[in-house]
Amino acid sequence: MIMERDMRDTVDAVVVGAGFAGLYALHRLRGLGLSTRVFEAGSGVGGTWFWNRYPGARCDVESLDYQYAFSPELLDEWRWSERYPRQGEILAYLEHVADRFALRPDIELNTRVSGAAFDEETSRWEVETEAGGHVSARFLIMATGCLSAARVPDLPGLDSFAGRWFHTGSWPHEEVDFTGQRVAVVGTGSSGVQSIPVIAQQADQLVVFQRTPSFSVPAVNEPLDVEAARRQHGTPMQRRARARVSIGGLPYPEHEGSALEMSDEERTRHLEERSRMGGLAMYGAFSDVMVDQDANAAVVAFFHDKIRERVDDPAVAERLLPRDYPFGTKRVCVDTGYYETFNRDNVTIVDVRESPIEEITPRGLRVGGVEHEVDAIVFATGFDAMTGAVTAVDLRGRAGASLAQKWSAGPRTYLGLAVAGFPNLFLVTGPGSPSVLSNMVVSIEQHVDWIADAIAHVRDSGAACIEATVAGEDAWVDHVDEVASSTLVHRANSWYLGANVPGKPRVFMPYMGGVGPYAQRCDEEARGGYAGFALTPTDRR
Ligand code: FAD
Ligand code: NAP
Repeated sequence: MIMERDMRDTVDAVVVGAGFAGLYALHRLRGLGLSTRVFEAGSGVGGTWFWNRYPGARCDVESLDYQYAFSPELLDEWRWSERYPRQGEILAYLEHVADRFALRPDIELNTRVSGAAFDEETSRWEVETEAGGHVSARFLIMATGCLSAARVPDLPGLDSFAGRWFHTGSWPHEEVDFTGQRVAVVGTGSSGVQSIPVIAQQADQLVVFQRTPSFSVPAVNEPLDVEAARRQHGTPMQRRARARVSIGGLPYPEHEGSALEMSDEERTRHLEERSRMGGLAMYGAFSDVMVDQDANAAVVAFFHDKIRERVDDPAVAERLLPRDYPFGTKRVCVDTGYYETFNRDNVTIVDVRESPIEEITPRGLRVGGVEHEVDAIVFATGFDAMTGAVTAVDLRGRAGASLAQKWSAGPRTYLGLAVAGFPNLFLVTGPGSPSVLSNMVVSIEQHVDWIADAIAHVRDSGAACIEATVAGEDAWVDHVDEVASSTLVHRANSWYLGANVPGKPRVFMPYMGGVGPYAQRCDEEARGGYAGFALTPTDRR
């Protein structure tokens, strides 16, 4: 296998994407001695943090947890400045990683992979790029990101708009100055919730077009006090050790009992404490929030009170209350001054739930027959999540079968890592793994390590291919569905379910079983000799 190393168009492994997942995959595969080529559509490394440069973009997992833990030296030498790092700081970190581990020579930027076909004669993936390039690889790793296929809604008239428009997920590199402008923000998910307070400070007028209000928790961001953090949660390695066995990939204590076992006062006190911790600590407040409607309603009531406290005008506060879905069934947002932004004189909110945006006109947006004139539109409208970037590549497995076709009724994977009929293809944080329900860096490292070990196993056992079995895949898909169905997640129109993309099948895509139990399951799979996989002997090539 290693003989292929110096042949330019023939490598051991191709990795698609150079975000957290692709960079670490390259590092690990090189460590195995595999010649590896990374293709990245963007003009720089960093993935999410390369593309999402919108005002206010930052992480909502604490910096000490949202970093690689594979290298103690890297952990020691990098200094984060804030509890929740800005986009630019995370991008600088990933650029540092690319340099520190000398990854750049094996990364081809500005190169989008358009397709890859598995050749059953040679047991190799023939990978094509949009620019007409071709490379042959034994292993193909899709590190294409769960939230990398940005979606601008299909609104009539967008081409006619005379001002500038943006999507948060593909923001320009040069500074965008909204000073003196009338700006529309469409969307109030995490990207909207982060950008709205910052744009409001710069723009002359800001109009927020809201279809579904979010649950948002104050970040309680502050300059990072490493010593205080160490006293509270231990060293970064200790934090990571707890995160790896947790449900959400975070180091906070989780599942402290039922919300219904406490008196109203106790529950409020407990939620206040969680709220003061800031950010996503709220998720772990009670064990039954995601499974019991009454427990969930108690948390919803707490949020409603908080929003009413933060918003001066009661009528505006009522508009901002999430009412028609349970807490946690859409991604909870983390904000700095979001609700207070609606107390500003230059900010208005337009409800587009009952009366959707009809069209974009040359001068603005028309809703309910009223034209809202603006100079710029920011679409904070999200992504074709989890499957969009994978199915955008024309992946062909055995007998030329198309992955997009196979997934047309919903994604099917084994452990979110592999797909029956697609030998030697691996997905990083694919559908069917905890992925977007977790601190993704923890999940990415776990997946990349597992994939690297599986590839080493294939090599050491002299096999040609590793491939998920249909039986293993069917059982896993059923299990993922069963776990999701035991919770409240089907009661929301979330992107977890594909509900934000017209025509996408309504299937809950991530695995709700939790990071720790899931990793244990993956470890058992490896220890048990990859029972859910078939290993093809070399002589069958
Ligand atoms: P990405 O970072 O998305 O990288 C994938 C790369 O693949 C992209 O650069 C893309 O250009 C490239 N690519 C895709 N298709 C192709 C192709 N066909 N050819 C070539 N290249 C291709 N997660 C958290 O855990 N905590 C957070 O606080 C958090 N905040 C987020 C904030 C924003 C604004 C967004 C959008 C996501 C956030 N996430 C967060 C999720 C985030 O995506 C992950 O944490 C992580 O960065 C994903 O890394 P990745 O390498 O898997 O994917
Ligand atoms: P999102 O959560 O999908 O939010 C998109 C918003 O746009 C929703 O409010 C949606 O309304 C609205 N929308 C979509 N189409 C619309 C239309 N035609 N008319 C009116 N409104 C429309 O996308 P996102 O905010 O970019 O976040 C995606 C994910 O990325 C997050 O859930 C999170 O995982 C990650 N993220 C994290 C952070 C962070 O804080 N670290 C920041 C940004 C993103 P509906 O809800 O009604 O569909």
